Amino acid sequence: MRKPIIAGNWKLNKTIDASIELVTLLKRELSDVDEVDIVVCPVFTSLSAINDVILESNIDMGAQNLYWEDSGAFTGEVSAPLIKDAGCKYVIIGHSERRQFFGETNQTVNKKIKAALASGLLPIVCVGEVLEERETGKTFDVVKTQVTQSLAGFTPDELSKFIIAYEPVWAIGTGKTATPQQAQEVHKFIRGIIAEIGNDEIAAALRIQYGGSVKPDNIKELMSQEDIDGALVGGASLKPDSFIALVKGAL
Ligand code: PEP
Repeated sequence: MRKPIIAGNWKLNKTIDASIELVTLLKRELSDVDEVDIVVCPVFTSLSAINDVILESNIDMGAQNLYWEDSGAFTGEVSAPLIKDAGCKYVIIGHSERRQFFGETNQTVNKKIKAALASGLLPIVCVGEVLEERETGKTFDVVKTQVTQSLAGFTPDELSKFIIAYEPVWAIGTGKTATPQQAQEVHKFIRGIIAEIGNDEIAAALRIQYGGSVKPDNIKELMSQEDIDGALVGGASLKPDSFIALVKGAL
């Protein structure tokens, strides 16, 4: 049985105070949930403050990005050991906004995953096609390339630490959700790729999140699909009521 995982990607939103306010409410309202892994991914500047709030709670924290070198002359970057030191368990790698606006490629994603694993962080690796690729029938080719190149060179033991987020880019922040069937067929396809590059056991245990305009009113139908094991949520993770409803909807 794969334990569902709901992660809130707060993107570039919220001051330290606003982050503390949100996570304090989540902690109070979700304290009795133990059948779902709950993750919040605030901006870097809030990590340490959030860590103080979630200590000894059922909420874990993730960063939204990292740089693959541990330290040195890399002005403006934040590394895996520092993210770990701030209290993170997870890190999102290769989000489509990073690919689109900051030149992230499958090769940089691969380096970042290596750095995350070396520091004991669990990578949430994002893949997904843009609208034109879906409309021209290239979804499976694109996702296969992203998964195989991003995950190249990892041992079965390392692969067992991954979470993959399938996020069709045309569904992120647009209000358009992939239908549960559209999502399911790509999730199943990704699980098949993991069986090829890892093995059947790792593929069966791998958690694959769906992301793209997930809301309280569509989470149940998405989660009812065999290969959907949770959600990576942007907009609907910024308000306590909707994130609480999403977590409860995944139960
Ligand atoms: C995301 O940022 O990963 C995302 C899926 O955003 P949204 O839920 O707003 O579409």
